[in-house]
Amino acid sequence: MSFDDGEELRRRDPRVEHILRNRLHPQHESLISAPAETRGPSGLVRKNPHQIGFIGPNGLKRIDRLAGNGPVLGRDVRAAKVKTEALRPLVSIAQAEQFVVAVMDMVGGRLTAHDKDVLGQAQQLAAEIPEVCAVVAVVFGAVKEDAFELAGVDRLIHLRGEDYQGYCPEQSIAALQVIDQKLSPRFWLFPDSVHGAGELGLRLAARLQERPATQAWQVSSEKTTFRGGSQRTDICVDTPRLLLLAEESAAPIEDTRHEVVPMSELTEDLAAQVLPCIKDGGQVAVDPKQISLAEAEFILAAGNGITDWEQFHSASEILRATEGASRVAVDDGLMPRNTQVGATGTWVSARVYIAVGISGAVQHLQGIASCDKVIAINTDAGCDMVKRADLSVIGDSQEILAELIQLCELRQEQEMKQGVEHVA
Ligand SMILES: Cc1cc2nc3c(=O)[nH]c(=O)nc-3n(C[C@H](O)[C@H](O)[C@H](O)COP(=O)(O)OP(=O)(O)OC[C@H]3O[C@@H](n4cnc5c(N)ncnc54)[C@H](O)[C@@H]3O)c2cc1C
Repeated sequence: MSFDDGEELRRRDPRVEHILRNRLHPQHESLISAPAETRGPSGLVRKNPHQIGFIGPNGLKRIDRLAGNGPVLGRDVRAAKVKTEALRPLVSIAQAEQFVVAVMDMVGGRLTAHDKDVLGQAQQLAAEIPEVCAVVAVVFGAVKEDAFELAGVDRLIHLRGEDYQGYCPEQSIAALQVIDQKLSPRFWLFPDSVHGAGELGLRLAARLQERPATQAWQVSSEKTTFRGGSQRTDICVDTPRLLLLAEESAAPIEDTRHEVVPMSELTEDLAAQVLPCIKDGGQVAVDPKQISLAEAEFILAAGNGITDWEQFHSASEILRATEGASRVAVDDGLMPRNTQVGATGTWVSARVYIAVGISGAVQHLQGIASCDKVIAINTDAGCDMVKRADLSVIGDSQEILAELIQLCELRQEQEMKQGVEHVA
């Protein structure tokens, strides 16, 4: 065999390859720690495709998207994320000539994954507009979110006060109409979801007598493709001004920080001047078992590490959590098939996901990728679920669930006592 002059002959080093494959080897971290992402001179993140992923036990390259695509894992990923967030270049818009307004769902006072997709789309549209364009987020009621700047919000309109608490579409639409008159947005974006903003989008379209695109999933300033015909047909139209976006229609913002300038001068004028006909009767308690897993906000999931199933069901009942399960628990006939979470089960997006005795196989982790906070209860401190979790409790599931049930009972008793005292 001959090689051209100058062609570099690549030599393999079996020892290095062995260390790269073995995540437990003491030299593993140092050998793979070359950065997978660096910030270029323009401030944008550049990815080194050769550094993404790791070599699996069979010698093939694997990309673990849950571990941030890089060689770092678990807690290191979160630390690296916080570090890169602080380094993102700040986008500041002093004088905006055009606006793209995005109305947010804000489930539980926080941006949902769907909200972040909508903001990502809003920034894409803003970039296509030739004039200086700012993305304005409109949020209603109590807000707990502290990361608007990382989600792509240039301007923020926060409508608070009693008028905007609970279900109040009439007041909200009146406010959106004032925003429409004052800003004349180039585009209005809403998440097409069941959490409220989608309904506002439809109501605003009716009020403004404009035809919106619903379930839009491919959007540019010129053309929009949306799902029609009971979700069976894709229809392409000239992009309308009002867009209700499907989930994952655009990638959320990852590379920049934004100023989040409050538009307080606008919100001062927005005191609702409507006499509402709809009265919000408050929230109604529902049986968590009746909520579909895909929509559940709080899930208690069981795996092969559960030894006392009666106790697991009592825990889910007292916590008022929807039950989920790993495939092993389902295959063993201990949980119904419709509770399986993961690649071949349901993809969930709960705000809190408690995984009891679940090891964190990649197929399971895929299904919980959109969950906000993950809590692992496991005897194995080194398992992948513990690495993925925001909070871990290391110990026997039976003992920990027993403690949890006891704490909940104690709290319920206290609340009942306080209620009786209040009535007396
Ligand atoms: C094509 C394919 C698709 C798949 N799809 C899915 C899917 O959609 N969803 C899914 O879940 N799996 C799926 N799997 C299976 C997946 O690979 C794992 O086998 C499965 O998720 C493991 O379930 P587990 O974590 O409950 O069990 P195990 O892997 O057995 O883990 C049990 C865990 O419990 C812990 N434990 C043990 N005893 C205790 C105790 N007393 N207290 C606390 N913790 C304890 C252990 O430390 C361990 O971490 C799929 C597999 C294939 C091949």
